[in-house]
This record gives sequence, C-alpha cells and structure tokens, in this order.
Amino acid sequence: MDYYRLRGVGVSPGISIGEALLTERVVFSSRRELISKKQVAGELLRLKKAFQRTKDLLKDIRGTVREKMGEEHSFIFDAHLLILEDISFFAKLEKMIRERMIRAEGALSEAHDFYEKKFEAITDEYFRQRKYDVTDVLSRVYKNLEPVAQKRRQDGKDRILVGHELLPSEAALRLSQGNVLAVVLDMGGETSHTAILARSLNIPACVGLGDVTRLVKNGDLLIVDGTDGEVLINPPLAIQKEFQSKKRRYDDYRRELRKTSRLKPVTLDGEAFFPMANIELPEEVKPALSLGAEGIGLFRSEFIYLQNTSLPSEDDHYRIYSRIAKEAHPSPVHIRTMDIGGEKNLPQLRIEKEPNPALGLRAVRFSLRDKMLMKTQLRAILRASTLKNVRILIPMITEYEEIMQVKALYTEVKEELRKEKVSFDEKTPLGVMIEVPAAAAITDILAQEVDYLSIGTNDLIQYYLAVDRSNELVSYLFKPLHPSILRILRFIIETAHREGKEITVCGEMAANPLSALVLLGFGLKKFSMNPIFIPRIKKVLRAVEYKSVKRIVQKAVLLKTAQEIEEYLLEKILVKHPKAFLMGDIS
Ligand code: PEP
Ligand code: MG
Repeated sequence: MDYYRLRGVGVSPGISIGEALLTERVVFSSRRELISKKQVAGELLRLKKAFQRTKDLLKDIRGTVREKMGEEHSFIFDAHLLILEDISFFAKLEKMIRERMIRAEGALSEAHDFYEKKFEAITDEYFRQRKYDVTDVLSRVYKNLEPVAQKRRQDGKDRILVGHELLPSEAALRLSQGNVLAVVLDMGGETSHTAILARSLNIPACVGLGDVTRLVKNGDLLIVDGTDGEVLINPPLAIQKEFQSKKRRYDDYRRELRKTSRLKPVTLDGEAFFPMANIELPEEVKPALSLGAEGIGLFRSEFIYLQNTSLPSEDDHYRIYSRIAKEAHPSPVHIRTMDIGGEKNLPQLRIEKEPNPALGLRAVRFSLRDKMLMKTQLRAILRASTLKNVRILIPMITEYEEIMQVKALYTEVKEELRKEKVSFDEKTPLGVMIEVPAAAAITDILAQEVDYLSIGTNDLIQYYLAVDRSNELVSYLFKPLHPSILRILRFIIETAHREGKEITVCGEMAANPLSALVLLGFGLKKFSMNPIFIPRIKKVLRAVEYKSVKRIVQKAVLLKTAQEIEEYLLEKILVKHPKAFLMGDIS
C-alpha cells in the first residue's frame, strides 16, 4: 500500500485516525441530446417529476436531520427547497427544453455551468462557496431524472469521508449519522457549509487537497489533522504512533478549553468582559452559545442574498432575523446591513465590475445608492426586534453625511411601520462600524449620532496600512500589532468611552490571544469573533488581571515595531501571569 502525506487547508481542528469511505460524485453530462417536438411535453413531465421527487426527498432528509441534529442544521434544506420552489428557476429550464429541444439532462447541465461561472467570478471566498447550494439542488434533480435505488454502506462503522466536494445537503445528512470521524475533500474552503458544519459538530476536516480522491481507495487507513491541514494515507506504524499521541494532547487541550465555556467571563480582578460570536448562518447561533458566546456580535447579513436565485424579499430577511433573535434571546444580536459590492459581488444584483473594488461601491455606499435595499433590510430588522435584543449595525461608514442619510431612512421606516401598526422595538439601537480610517478619525462625531460602535479590524488594518487583506503577496505586512494600529485603536476605544458609547471589536484581532489582551488593556470589554475561538479567548482573559494588563499595554504602545511590541507583551504577561497562554496559543 502506497504511503502519501498531503497538505490542504485545515477547516475544522482535531485529529482523527480511521478507514476511508469515498463518496460518489454526480457528473453532469456535457452531451446535448436533441429531442423531437413531440417529445418536448414528455421531457417536461420528466423534469417536473424529478423536481417533485427531489422535493419529497429533501423534506424526508430535513426530517431526519432535524431529528438527529436539531432544527439549526436542517435549515439548509429549507434554503434548497426555496431554490426548487422558485418558479423562475423551473421556467428557465422549461424554456431551454422547449426552445432548443434538448433533454432535461442537457438543460440541467447548462444551468449548472451557467451558475458555476457566475459564482466562480466572485472573489469573496464565502460567497463563491455558495455555488455548492445551487450545484447541490441541480445534481439532486439530475439524479432524480433516472431514479435508481441508492445503496449505501449501512454497517454503521465509523469512517473518514473522502470526496471531491461534499454538497451541503449531503454534508448535513452524512454528518448527522454520527459515524463520521473526519472529512477530507479535494475542493472546498474555510466558509463552505461542510466546514461550518464540521466545526460546529467537532469533526476534524481538511479540504482543498486537489486530488486526494484519486489517491485514496475505500478501506485505506487515513490520518486527518484538521488543525495543521494534513492528510496521511496509509502511514507507517511509527507515524501512526506519533499522531496518536498528538491526538491525545490535542483532545486534552480541547477538554480544558471546553470547560471554560461554562465559566464566568471575568478577569482575575473581577472585571467582566463579553465574548460574542460573528456568524454568517442562522444555524450557527446555538453552537456559538454553547461555546460561551454572550450574544451575536456580528451577523453578516450578506449571506441571505445567496439563499435565493432572485432578490430576497422583506419576509425572507425577516424570517432569518427573527429566528436568530429568538434563538439568541435574551442575549443581544447585532445585525449588520449587507456588506455587498466591491469584492463581495453577487450575480443577482448586477454590480458593474470596478477597477478597485476595495475602494469602490461597497457596503453602505451600495445600500444608499439603491435605497430600497436599505429600507427592506431596516424594515425586516425592526420587525424582528420585538424581543428587544436586536441591534442594527451599518458597515463601511466613511463620513458624517452617510450616517445622517441612514438615520433619515431609519426614521422613515419607523414611521411607515407605525402607520401600518406593525409592532417593533422603538429603542432598537443603531450602530456604525469603524473600519475606514476616516471614520476612526471622527469617532467622536459619529459616536454622538449613534447608540454604539463596532471596530472592524479586518478592514481597518487593510485601509490603514494599505495592505489588501486577501493578497498573499503582501500578507507579511498585515500586522495587527503595528504601532500605528494600536494607536488608532486606543484612540477609537477611548473616544467612544469618553462619549459614553458602547464599543466592540468584531474583526479577527479579537480572536487572537495576544491582540485580545492588548484590546483589554485599552479598556475594551466586548469582543466578537468566530465562535470557535471563544473558549480560547475566555481562557486567556480569565487568566489575567485587568489592571496589570492595562499597565503593560500602555508601555508596549510606546515601542517602535510590531515585533518589539509582541515580544514585550509576551514576556511581561508571561512573567506576571504564567498560566495566561496554553500550548498552541502562541503562533
Ligand atoms: C472587519 O472588517 O473587521 C469585519 C468584521 O467585517 P468583514 O470581515 O465582514 O469585512
Ligand atoms: Mg469589514
């Protein structure tokens, strides 16, 4: 048996050792078989039946997944059913069959290519990943044109799933069986449904391996390291032993962190802090709360535009917002209006290509150009506010005029709802993200106009240091501990406090133990991050004294380089609080 060691992207941490099980892949035929005019009606009936079978099957699977994993994981099937029930979607296929007299297989394949190209053109990783939802639905309909009894290995044995890609519904169904040790894929990314699901179920996963499916056979012994992004096929005994002990160490570390999710978020000297979750999907709420999130600090509402092939309606928005608000209640939920445009492009919004997307018509700039988009979101958020735990967050504010325009729309929308006798929380707070340097410089002016502020360090660092956040060539310059970043962060946090306004950091910086300590030292109490990092940040912040961190951080800011600052902080904090960091915290 050949031994291979492959490197991919670890998207769900942990180590699993076990037998491989390959999943089969749906291949869309590229043959365009023609039919006669007389056959058109029959072909349309075949397609209609395939749609119906797919709907019935999806409802069945939804029931199984709901029963085994809970409501939050079955939500994906509602989204898929919505795609299937979209009349324009069926009409598009019908038109292809009628006008071009091709078989349903041909029409589905072309529709698949069409959507795949559209999604491939999107630079934002998260949005690009959503193409799998469309592929998922199309491939199920495709299979159902010629339904054959599907045989599955039913022995219930624990195995490692290996596939080219795992479509979202397949992922939910397979992972709900409780016998998947790990997931290994040729394709995929950090924000794919499989990755999100695997993380929330604690199943190690490694994706983006290129051609792992060509190297693995059913029954091969695999080691999957979802932390370091490695997959080993048929490793020798010595290497198996090495990974068994790495697995034991990692599992101990996880257990230790898990315990913190039940502990109070307070520093050693009793200062309370609030770890919150950044989420992109409603099904992430419950797992986030179980990891110790004290609320949803950022819901990136852009994702809603991907649940439909056409523009989502106010009710589509409302359903999602109220579901999140209900599940997180009584903890707060910060719903950010869409951050679309620029690199986060979407096919159904027909955004023109821009020469410099990061500096272009993005986020609030986009929403204010097409005011109906903004009003739809504001109305839906307000309607979902009746439990009084919802807050509105506006991304990418650059100047005073923008927030005033948003406030005018907000007042208009409230007035409309009152007239329509629709109930909502009159006091729903409105906040802005500080993620453009210009907004940072006028923190005081903005703070006076809103109820709270949230710092988006991902963009703030990108714009402040002029370093593209997704360009590997310049990633060595993306330094959260750059003295300029620390100075501006201190300024924003202190200004917000002086103005008596709450302030949160919701960029990746909040998820890094050392950076989180710096933010705490500046007086920050609200940290919002990818929920998987919450236990780790809680552990670090609980292990220090607020007062001493404050003192250390004030000195660190005076240093000249990010490296000097990092070394100084580590040394001083470790001397004062030797238990602050865990193995693996310091990268
Ligand atoms: C940020 O910019 O830090 C942020 C949280 O927003 P996003 O990553 O969605 O741009
Ligand atoms: Mg941002």
